[in-house]
Amino acid sequence: MRKHIVAGNWKMNNDLAETETLLSDLKKQSKTSNAEVMISPAFTNLWHAFQSTREDDIEVIAQNMHFAENGAYTGEVSASMLKSIGVKTVILGHSERRAYYNETDASLAKKVDAALANELRVIFCFGEELKDRKAGDQEKIVASQIKNALFHLDAAAFKNIVLAYEPVWAIGTGETASPEQAQDMHAFIRKTLDGKYGVNVANTMSILYGGSVKPANAREIFSKPDVDGGLIGGASLKAEDFYAIVNAF
Ligand code: 13P
Repeated sequence: MRKHIVAGNWKMNNDLAETETLLSDLKKQSKTSNAEVMISPAFTNLWHAFQSTREDDIEVIAQNMHFAENGAYTGEVSASMLKSIGVKTVILGHSERRAYYNETDASLAKKVDAALANELRVIFCFGEELKDRKAGDQEKIVASQIKNALFHLDAAAFKNIVLAYEPVWAIGTGETASPEQAQDMHAFIRKTLDGKYGVNVANTMSILYGGSVKPANAREIFSKPDVDGGLIGGASLKAEDFYAIVNAF
């Protein structure tokens, strides 16, 4: 049985007051599914959110980190800093970080190593661009993103990895991959893992879908056998919408 996870990627939204409001709205919601619930406030609000949700069934996670342990990296935050405030999970490789901050498969491999060395769980994001899908190259691109950033790891490391397939053309665009497109890609990802690590890693890996998931489409996407949850952007910023998605399992 794979873990179901619904994680909110708040991105660069919500100052402290807005974070407090959203946290209080989230606490009023009730969970009727077995999904693990995660939220990812900005770095400045992580500590507050962590303290505020101590009694709640909500995990506070980070959106990014640097690969170095510490040192002269102005403006950056390390894995050990996240760990020191109680963060247990970090999102790495989001397409916005790849596009705007030049994150590459090679730098992401280093970030994954640093996170795992600090006993953080990684939600590793990847996905093809529209031009890749138009050219029919989506599987080639996704396979190379996974191989280049993760296939230096041993099988045991995958216990602390969650994969998030986020086709770039579906992020924030209102255009969702169809449930069939998501299923096809998730099955391909599992096959790729099986080829390298065997059926045990492949079958126990939680693979999330991200890209314009909303209350109206979540149930159909989550009903697909290889979709184990979602990474939610815009719809995670409203408590009711987010919990409608959490409860879509
Ligand atoms: P949207 O749900 O806003 O499309 O964002 C998806 C995403 O980028 C989650 O990481």
